[in-house]
Amino acid sequence: MPKHNMPDTPHFAVPFGGRSHAYTEKEIEKVRQIMRDSTGLTQGQEQHIFENKLATFLGVEKAHAVSNATAGLEIAAQLCDFRDGDEVVIPAHTFTSSAYPFVKHGAQLIWADIDPSTRVVSVEQIEPCLSKKTRAIVVPHLYGYGADMPGIMEIAEKYSALVIEDVAQAIGVRIDGKMAGAYGDFSVFSFHAHKNISTLGEGGALVARDEDHSRLIPQLRHNGHCNFTQPREGYWIPAMGNVDLPSLNEKALLPNNFCLGEVQCALGAMLLDRVEKINCDKRQRALRFIDTCSEKPQLELHREDSPRHNYHLLVAKVTTGNRDEFIRAMAFDYGIQCIVQYYPLYRYSFYRKLGLGKAKCPNTDEFFDNMVSFPFHHTLEEDQIEQIVRAVTSVLAKV
Ligand SMILES: *Cc1c(COP(=O)(O)O)cnc(C)c1O
Repeated sequence: MPKHNMPDTPHFAVPFGGRSHAYTEKEIEKVRQIMRDSTGLTQGQEQHIFENKLATFLGVEKAHAVSNATAGLEIAAQLCDFRDGDEVVIPAHTFTSSAYPFVKHGAQLIWADIDPSTRVVSVEQIEPCLSKKTRAIVVPHLYGYGADMPGIMEIAEKYSALVIEDVAQAIGVRIDGKMAGAYGDFSVFSFHAHKNISTLGEGGALVARDEDHSRLIPQLRHNGHCNFTQPREGYWIPAMGNVDLPSLNEKALLPNNFCLGEVQCALGAMLLDRVEKINCDKRQRALRFIDTCSEKPQLELHREDSPRHNYHLLVAKVTTGNRDEFIRAMAFDYGIQCIVQYYPLYRYSFYRKLGLGKAKCPNTDEFFDNMVSFPFHHTLEEDQIEQIVRAVTSVLAKV
């Protein structure tokens, strides 16, 4: 890997990322079978099966497989149909692709702060950002914790704002008994290599609550392809296929190619059978870690012993003001690769250049400047967890 202005990094006994995804033999066999037997390799039976299974799992009418969550957000942003001056309220503490599709499609972003204890947006943080100009609210269930969707849907309705749930990190999470992603006008899921389940590195899904929106997604995803409407003299006349997309309020909808292949869909369908077990195992493991650290006031962890958290990531706030020293000691003395993540979006040059460099988000700044994200992929071994806990104990005694 090329190194840019990076000091030497130590050898990590416990690296941040997982070494494998621990696919089962049955899953690997399924992939081989589709490789052997599928005729089209895309836009076929496996996609259909995966979409139906995902919709049932989520308790929604219809789910659409897409190439990744960002593609799903891109389509959602297109369907929001922004006019000049429309605003999108979004927390600055999230991954960049929660935000930029909305910029690309003409919205003005309004940065919301996060709740300091849950580290996701809440009604309290969103409300001051709302106005007559608000067209949409983006709610990332960051780290795998389900935001207060009943409350957020209620204020969104008051302002006639659309709600986009970013469920990239939170598949299978339940909020008041209903799945994350089953509340919003749009919701997106990611099956990227870093997430709790992965369809071979890339993959995603998009759900739209409105039937008219949902009906447009297969076309928006697949180059605008559709059937000819006029009676045809021969199957080849005038050509193999038609391309068309309706307009939304006189604005032409533009096509994309965001399809997910058959091999990935077949694997995705199988992974849905064990996503709840993966989530449950991660939560149990996170709770053990958190409870072990309960006597350590230097670390502030968010404890949630319910399906509302899948602990996709395990993060903490270092309360002693020497976070960097903590991470340095974890890395260089104990070989444990902790990282810092979700650079407040208003600090990125990309958003600064767009005039989005200013924000009043004290909780976002405070958390980011003191946060640490521990290695926590689901293939961590028990002894690696113990190694992390032992290192934390020793490092905290010193720094
Ligand atoms: C990973 C992630 C995305 C993007 O997912 P892709 O499938 O890689 O496009 C979007 N939002 C959040 C919160 C994420 O963690």
